[in-house]
Amino acid sequence: MTELARGPIVVIGAGIVGLACATYLQRDGRKVVMLDPAGPGEGASYGNAGGLNGSSIVPVAMPGVLSKVPHWLLDPEGPLSIRLRYLPQLLPWLYRFVRAGRPDLVREQARALRALLAPTVDMHRELAASVGAADLIQRSGLLVVYRSEASFAADAEANSLRAANGVKIDELGKDELRQIEPALSSAYTRARFISENGYVRNPLRLSRSLAEALVANGGELRRERAQGFAFADGKVAAVLTSAGPIPAAAVVLAAGAHSKPLAAQLGEKVPLDTERGYHAMIRAPEVAPRLPIMDAEAKFVATPMEEGLRMAGTVEFAGLDAPPDWRRARVLLRHGRAMFPGLPRAVAEDRVALWMGFRPSMPDSLPVIGPTRRYPNAFLAFGHGHVGLIGAPMTGRAITDLVAGRAPAIDLKPFRAARFG
Ligand SMILES: Cc1cc2nc3c(=O)[nH]c(=O)nc-3n(C[C@H](O)[C@H](O)[C@H](O)COP(=O)(O)OP(=O)(O)OC[C@H]3O[C@@H](n4cnc5c(N)ncnc54)[C@H](O)[C@@H]3O)c2cc1C
Repeated sequence: MTELARGPIVVIGAGIVGLACATYLQRDGRKVVMLDPAGPGEGASYGNAGGLNGSSIVPVAMPGVLSKVPHWLLDPEGPLSIRLRYLPQLLPWLYRFVRAGRPDLVREQARALRALLAPTVDMHRELAASVGAADLIQRSGLLVVYRSEASFAADAEANSLRAANGVKIDELGKDELRQIEPALSSAYTRARFISENGYVRNPLRLSRSLAEALVANGGELRRERAQGFAFADGKVAAVLTSAGPIPAAAVVLAAGAHSKPLAAQLGEKVPLDTERGYHAMIRAPEVAPRLPIMDAEAKFVATPMEEGLRMAGTVEFAGLDAPPDWRRARVLLRHGRAMFPGLPRAVAEDRVALWMGFRPSMPDSLPVIGPTRRYPNAFLAFGHGHVGLIGAPMTGRAITDLVAGRAPAIDLKPFRAARFG
């Protein structure tokens, strides 16, 4: 028995990434202890758009994005906002973001993301079925809709990057679009349909189902915050929490946007920040699209969730501490009405739920997945930005392989913490 095999593996953070790691580790015969001061899946993993898009391989810092930023920032209904007070803190991240947008780097990032994300629907299906929640995963395809030929054409470069990585995309005209989704506004004139994609009908229920199964199978879920580590013989010996130390044979850091200070304690300085996002959800909606629909210009996704129609998106740079700006979520409600004329102008407040969450974002749109350089039994699994739900299963599998000393199924070099020096 190796040193690693003897004690529990402590997973810090019970978001979808930590839960996927914990589930595969448990299947591999490990005793798992999960730590989270909140309930499972109540962070970013709660309110996302539910998209399982293996096609989401285009990094945010795509060439050409920067030229759109001033226009987006000036538009109060636009998809991007930066709180001025946060700008000085954000500058080093923005600098790296701009540098990550070099065309050759973007091609490499897309290739790495494709390996991480492509099997998402199949892997989620298997995971959800194993915890009695198979109904949550739908392979519906994704519809991306455009209001003009110009915006359709503007997306061509991103789509050729997708095609180059094996994503099949069907281009649709107005009539075909209307046939697929009659509830859509007639203002949309073009669309792209990506059939391999799917979605989770209730991301919170998925996390809760995984957590319940983990506990039922002998894992532990403790409502405690990891505060630091104890080290012995060049390894992590325990995770320190407010309730005392928890001995660890190995530790997996999956605390989403909150991972940075703990990663630093493990010897890895990473430029992790947060792109905050919002959703507005209408319960018992008047329209029921049968698949997720992304508005390419307004940059939001409308998803037919189990509990209502969810409009999710926007990027807000304001750090982890500033209060939510609920106007951003209300904008999504207006966007939803513009997408579906069948929605009423005023929806009763008791049918509307607003939410804000913290995407854990790296400047090059790639998560950090892999071992730390200093401690052989400390592993990192955070920074998934816009694609954490999509990438969670492959991340969990890769971390489990690393813990077991096996070669992971995908090349983890692009995801190493060391890429930032
Ligand atoms: C509006 C919006 C739409 C999105 N749409 C999609 C989409 O369609 N598809 C997709 O794949 N992704 C989407 N995302 C991104 C996705 O939600 C995230 O990438 C993903 O949820 C990150 O998962 P995580 O487990 O890393 O983080 P989280 O879900 O945030 O989990 C981290 C957990 O760590 C816990 N934690 C923090 N500090 C500590 C500590 N010190 N000790 C212990 N626990 C700690 C937190 O309480 C939290 O529960 C979207 C995000 C937003 C905001």
